[in-house]
This record gives sequence, C-alpha cells and structure tokens, in this order.
Amino acid sequence: MQLRDTTHFTTRFLLPIVVVTGITILALAGFLAWSAQRIDADALAREKLLLERALQEQKSQMYIAQEELAVWDEAVTAIDTEDVQWLVDNLGIYAFNFYGHNRSFVLDSALKPIVAVRDGGQVPAKSSADSIEKLAPFFAHLRRLDTQAAISAYNAGVSDTLPQAIDFTLFEGQPALVAVTPILSYSGENAPTVGKEGFYISVGLLGDELATYFGDQYRIDQPIFLDAKPQTDATLPILNAQGQTLAWLAWQPEHPGARLVGAAMPALPAALVIGIIIVGLLLRSLRSALFQLQAEREEAHHRAQHDPLTGLGNRALFGARIGELLQHTSEGGPRFAVLELDLDKFKQVNDTLGHQAGDEMLVEVSARIKSLLRPEDTLIRFGGDEFTIIQPNIGGSGDPLALAQAIIDALTQPVSITAGIATIGVSIGIATAPDMARSEADLIRFADDALYHAKNGGRNRYCLYSAAHEPSRVDTQLRDAFAARRASA
Ligand code: GH3
Ligand code: MG
Repeated sequence: MQLRDTTHFTTRFLLPIVVVTGITILALAGFLAWSAQRIDADALAREKLLLERALQEQKSQMYIAQEELAVWDEAVTAIDTEDVQWLVDNLGIYAFNFYGHNRSFVLDSALKPIVAVRDGGQVPAKSSADSIEKLAPFFAHLRRLDTQAAISAYNAGVSDTLPQAIDFTLFEGQPALVAVTPILSYSGENAPTVGKEGFYISVGLLGDELATYFGDQYRIDQPIFLDAKPQTDATLPILNAQGQTLAWLAWQPEHPGARLVGAAMPALPAALVIGIIIVGLLLRSLRSALFQLQAEREEAHHRAQHDPLTGLGNRALFGARIGELLQHTSEGGPRFAVLELDLDKFKQVNDTLGHQAGDEMLVEVSARIKSLLRPEDTLIRFGGDEFTIIQPNIGGSGDPLALAQAIIDALTQPVSITAGIATIGVSIGIATAPDMARSEADLIRFADDALYHAKNGGRNRYCLYSAAHEPSRVDTQLRDAFAARRASA
C-alpha cells in the first residue's frame, strides 16, 4: 500500500513538478543567455553609431579648421608675396599644434606646392608633390563650374558655406581624411580672381593617434585602424565618397550582457538550491497532506464496512465478499458456506447484567468465534446479536456443519465478564453455494430459513438449509417476523 501510494505520488506530483521545474530552469537560463546576447548586440550597435559619429565629427572639425585658416586676407597676401614663413607658421605649424593635422600644404593657383608641413615641421614643398598629384579628384571638384560659382557666392558674402573637397582617401599610402579648400579673402578686400586662388590642403591620418583619441574621447576599448577586415563584428569600414573601403576601424566591444551573466553566475547555484529546497518543502507538505487524506479516506472506507463495537466486518462487507465469491465460483457442489448465528436468550444478559455487559459479551463471543476460523473465513456482525460467517473453499457441507458444532461448543461455555459470569447459547442456520443458491439474497434467505429451523427446533443447535423444509403457514408468518426483526436490527 505504502509502495503504491509512493509510486502514485511520484508519477502524479513529483515527476510533473520536477519536469516543470527543469523546464522553468532551462527556460530561465535560455532567457538569460538570450537577454545577455541582446544587451551585447545593442551595446555593439551603440558603439558603431558612436564611432560613425566620431568619424563624422572629424570631418566637421576639419571644415571648421579650414574655414578659420584658409579664409584669411593675410594668407592671400602671403601667397601673392610668397611669404613662405608666414604660411608655414600660420597654416602649417598652427594647424598641427591646434588641430592635430598631420600634414598641411599650401599650393599656388597653378597647384604648385609652396609650403609643406609634416607633423608640425616644415619639409621641402616638392617632397609631397607625388602625394598631392593623387588628389586630382579633389581639385577637379574645386574647379568645377558649380564650385566656382559657390566660391563667387562665398566671396560676395551671399553664401556662408566654404567650398571644400573633403573625403577619406589614401595619402602617402595611409588612410587619411583629406580636405582641400581655396584660400580666400575674409574681408573681400584682396579676394583673388575666381579660378586663381591658392589652395590649402589639410590631412588627418587615420592612425594610432586618432584611434587613441577615439578611445579616450568616446570610451571605446582599444580602437585601431586596420588595412584588412578583422574577424570581429566590432568593426566599421572607412569608405570614401565612391563607397570603396579604404580601411577598417576595429575595437574590443563591451560585453555588458556577458558581464552581467558573469556577475550573476556565482549567485545562480545558491538561488537554484534555495528554489529546490522551497519546492522540496512544498512537495513534502503536499505529500503528507495527500497521505493523510488517503489514510482518512481508507479509514472512512473501513468504518463503512466494519462494526465499531467488535471491529468485525458489517453487512456491507458481507455483500462485497459474497459478490466476489459468487463471481469466482463455478457451477457444481458446495464451494462455500454461509453460517448465520443468532445468540440464544441474549436479551437476558442485557436485562440482568446491563447493556454494557451485553456489549462485553458480544466482544467476547466474536473473539471466541474468531479463534475457530481459518484466515480465509470472514466473520461479520450482521447486527444485534447476529453474526454471519463466510466459509470459502469447503470440501462439502460437512465443513460448515463441523464449524457450527465447534462454535456451539465454544459459546455454551460460561463467559466471564466484568459484571459476572453469563451463559448463553447460539443457533446457527447454514446455506451453501452454488449448489443451493447463486445470489446473495437467496443465500441469506436460505440461511435465515435454516436459522429459523434451528431456533424453532429448540435453540443451541445448527441446521443446514433444505428445500424439504416446506414451511407451514404459521411457520411462514413466524419466519417472516423473524426476518423482519433481523432486517431492522
Ligand atoms: P433469541 O433467543 O430468540 O434470539 O432471543 P434473544 O434474547 O437473543 O433476543 P433477540 O435475538 O430477539 O434480540 C437480540 C437483542 O440484542 C435485542 C437487543 O436488545 C440486543 N442488542 C442488539 N444490539 C445490541 C448491542 O449492540 N449491545 C447490546 N448490549 N445489546 C444489543
Ligand atoms: Mg438472539
């Protein structure tokens, strides 16, 4: 029983809860991993956006620097007078010191380099001629008619946008941001003829210096400009205006999601253990509540089939046992017997010694009968002073007759109870199945009939039912009254 209950509890509650808990833990772990991945992907997208803006910001700063330095009356004059030193100081060294431009060049209107400043130091102007030649598309842009018109407009104060050619390109073989602008008059007083301006070239190399600046300024971990595409998602292509990739900006992405999971990891086993303990405790109380409920149900079931005074089975159990036996008994001779017992003159015990003594007597009687039975026999208290015995597996009617005699012998022995010593007797009616009866009702009827005959025959005796007991009209009335009394007991 215990084993069956435990198995039942395991399959009905424990297993589903363990499965649900397992699925929940897996789902939580999956959700955590998915969230961490999403957080990291968002962080990476933010870093990319930040660096795209940083590159854009470089262009804006270069525009501001060029506007400040190239739109300058003194610069126009310096080109006219070929004042190289002034140009080196103010458009070269200053641009390096103040704006960090790696290269600055001043060209005359024939595109001949007049000034070249490299990393804040003057170098021979001719040394960069090859690199400058490669900026032909920049000059082509500035020589275009619409750009020329824009220069006129700027000179005339109609437009505030300084015409400028700016793009990422390779300079001296290195990726760089290069901007070229005409050198114009600020006041307009010495504005050169359109198409005859000198040019100012600013170059910002995309190298370690700029990468370090990005790292400090935008809190990006280890940014670096690379020639080839790196094997990481944390990278941005540096594209020129034609969409060609010149270089790659790569960095170590932040992994806030992974960091979060890493930080939470040590706490997870503890949380898991606590969760398992809580579920375990809940399961334990559920288990004991269920077992208690089951025990109560079994007790109620037992009460429904047993007599509280003697602890013997009652009429309900009798019906159930007889039903089973009839179902499993094949046709033929006597296979089992029903013995109906009614104590003789039991009322006298009640009347003389009291109801309590009667009760004691009933308990003693049931013990005496029980001691004569085999384990497979069933003793039932039918009600009042009536008992029934179901005696299965009999070899013939001799078995119940012998048992009946043994019971009569045992019950006629005086009984010692608290109130004194009492003597009673017992009458027994016997019917067998399936030879005599094949239904519970017939069995009871025939056993009743036999009991009636035993009582009628002088009490303290047994009687086996016989169809030859043809009852007279008076007998029938008596027997019916007897049966009615039994039914109401
Ligand atoms: P008979 O020889 O004809 O069988 O007569 P009897 O005195 O044994 O009385 P009968 O069988 O007609 O009735 C049984 C009596 O048992 C009736 C009732 O007062 C008494 N009785 C029924 N149930 C209980 C019980 O639980 N406890 C006690 N003490 N007496 C009971
Ligand atoms: Mg009686």
